[in-house]
Amino acid sequence: MGRKELLGGAKRIVVKIGTSTLTNADGSLNERLIKSLVAQICKLKDAGFCVALVSSGAVGAGMGLLGIAQRPKILSRKQALAAVGQVALMHLYERLFWAHDRIIAQLLLSRGDFSDRARYLSVRNVCAELLSRGIVPIINENDPVVADELKVGDNDTLSALVAGLIDADLLVILSDINGLYDKNPSEHADAKLLSFIEKIDEHVVKMAGGEGSKFGTGGMATKIAAAQMANQIGTSLIIANGRTDGILLKIAAGEEVGTLFSAGAARLSSRKYWLAYGAISKGAVIIDAGAAEAIKSG
Ligand code: ADP
Repeated sequence: MGRKELLGGAKRIVVKIGTSTLTNADGSLNERLIKSLVAQICKLKDAGFCVALVSSGAVGAGMGLLGIAQRPKILSRKQALAAVGQVALMHLYERLFWAHDRIIAQLLLSRGDFSDRARYLSVRNVCAELLSRGIVPIINENDPVVADELKVGDNDTLSALVAGLIDADLLVILSDINGLYDKNPSEHADAKLLSFIEKIDEHVVKMAGGEGSKFGTGGMATKIAAAQMANQIGTSLIIANGRTDGILLKIAAGEEVGTLFSAGAARLSSRKYWLAYGAISKGAVIIDAGAAEAIKSG
């Protein structure tokens, strides 16, 4: 089956742009590239696609602005950089989208916006309202004020949660790499790009081990986990290189770029997806020896 059939005319898309794509080697924002991605998103919108953007890059932008070369380890320092960088990032997005007469909105979310059902539904309604008005929601984790234990933790996972939030058909994760390779290409020159993953098994998870780039946070492991999540709610996922010319348009046209993790026919309901990934489990199930035996023999 070709890409076009596999994507089945996807119209609702979440695009996640990683730090390694948004920033230059010195950490400053790569305005030329962001401009091109914004132009592509606007073309998709003109063609009737519905697009939400999950954008990293705030800490990187803050580092670039303040001339800091090393990503700080101290939380409050990182948060301060995110607070500085988020403004610069949104300012840039606003200017670039304005040039196409497009209005943007900023949503800074944290774990609690997904785990609390009432808050989740409220964010869902806000997103629906923005999208119905043709506005592009730009979403990031609320890093400056949320403590680590209350965070989603990485924007790959956040983008999979957003895919559930807006019932996306497709999640595109743009990184600094062409897709998933059978081993880490920065360590192995003979690594091969995989264009299609039908099933995410242990073998696939193992390929993604290892860390990402200097400024990125998740590496491939969080992207695979995001694919696992997204596929369950019927959202296909493509990991592709944000630096490839016209990458979003190529994806929308069904070209064989990046790695596609195709969603199967089976899908969780929106509520079950929320229970699986949004809700935080409280309490514990205690199974005594007798019950354990009964379960094992049953
Ligand atoms: P982003 O900032 O876009 O989220 P990351 O830097 O966190 O990106 O992750 C992408 C990086 O993951 C790649 O540049 C590569 O070095 C690394 N990586 C590790 N294993 C693999 C693999 N099997 N295939 C592709 N990239 C891999």
